[in-house]
Amino acid sequence: MKVLSLGGAGFIGSHLTERLLQKNHSVVVVDYYDDKLLELLGHPGLTMLKQDIREENWGLEKLVEDSDVVIDLIAYANPGLYVKMPLEVFDLNFTENLKIAKTCRKLKKRLVQFSTCEVYGKTPASFMNENLMNPTDPAHATFSEDNTNLILGPIGKHRWIYASAKQLLERVLHAYGLEDGFKYCIIRPFNFIGPKIDYLLNETDGIPRVFSYFMDALINGGQMKLVDGGHNLRCYTYIDDAIEAIYRIVQNPNGVCDQEIFNIGSPHNETSIKNLAMLMRDIYANDMWQEGMPDLPEIVAVSSEDFYGRGYEDSDRRIPDITKARNLLEWEPKWNMVSTLKATMNYYVHDYRLHYGLNSLRDHFKHETIVQKIS
Ligand code: UDP
Repeated sequence: MKVLSLGGAGFIGSHLTERLLQKNHSVVVVDYYDDKLLELLGHPGLTMLKQDIREENWGLEKLVEDSDVVIDLIAYANPGLYVKMPLEVFDLNFTENLKIAKTCRKLKKRLVQFSTCEVYGKTPASFMNENLMNPTDPAHATFSEDNTNLILGPIGKHRWIYASAKQLLERVLHAYGLEDGFKYCIIRPFNFIGPKIDYLLNETDGIPRVFSYFMDALINGGQMKLVDGGHNLRCYTYIDDAIEAIYRIVQNPNGVCDQEIFNIGSPHNETSIKNLAMLMRDIYANDMWQEGMPDLPEIVAVSSEDFYGRGYEDSDRRIPDITKARNLLEWEPKWNMVSTLKATMNYYVHDYRLHYGLNSLRDHFKHETIVQKIS
């Protein structure tokens, strides 16, 4: 199969590209940086185009024309960015992605569109606690693709612009499907985690996801900060499990994924952020910490306004209902929480520096800044 992977050099895309190449597909990756794909550059099946897709007339149509399937991974997907630059988040996640969808529709090419579990927003329990018989019942937070309501916060909480942009894009794809049978498949990832998830340090737009903040505090010293006490819950999904499901979606046996939305996540790996901090610190202390390294960090509470600025509001809890992925893809996630964290943390402790051939994480951070300025 000839696969066009837009945004294919990021965290998910780099793992997916590796799998596609292993299975002898040819892959064209378009991304504005390539350092998460370094080991694969030179592979005969891979074409890497360093390109910012926001430029005009850069050749999208020809690439779509030449492909069998298009995968769209282009996104700003870190919550800190939704608060810091909401308009850019909207433009990239909606306006630019819409151009890709329109091109696929025009040329009748199948599109695998990455969306987000964030479209589900908040649980009913988050705002009507007292009215629910049992607000902690996981049923209130288990989200199904085709019948769960999508509940977002007020406009002033502009974190939700990301979820709104993704939701609108999903609605447009659905409408294309209704009007002319457009073949798309939407993936809603639930907190994928694994090697290469984020860079550890990035002071310019320095807003990675929680794992990287915690990992950075463990390796370099500092504090592990729990935003608003770290009470909110997430289901973490190891990237290998995720890639297995995504690969099956790309293959699309008998067209089972056409015009479908899939939750991809591990319902059994639910943890509060506070528990995540404690688990990571325990694993680090037992398996990775050595004499001479910075002391283990303390775990402290901070307010969301101090940490992210105004306009932040959080998803309180989100558990994927994966019945559809089980039935249509015969997929089951295998990695539990501890093995997921150990594998991911090991990469940052042992392989991260080697991978980039750099002496320290701070050197790597400088490298990353330069790449972003050039592109
Ligand atoms: N968070 C935290 N400390 C940090 C960074 C994030 O407590 O140093 C919290 C954040 O408020 C949220 C959760 O961790 O409740 C997960 O945030 P993340 O940025 O990883 O992405 P999300 O799961 O919200 O998309």
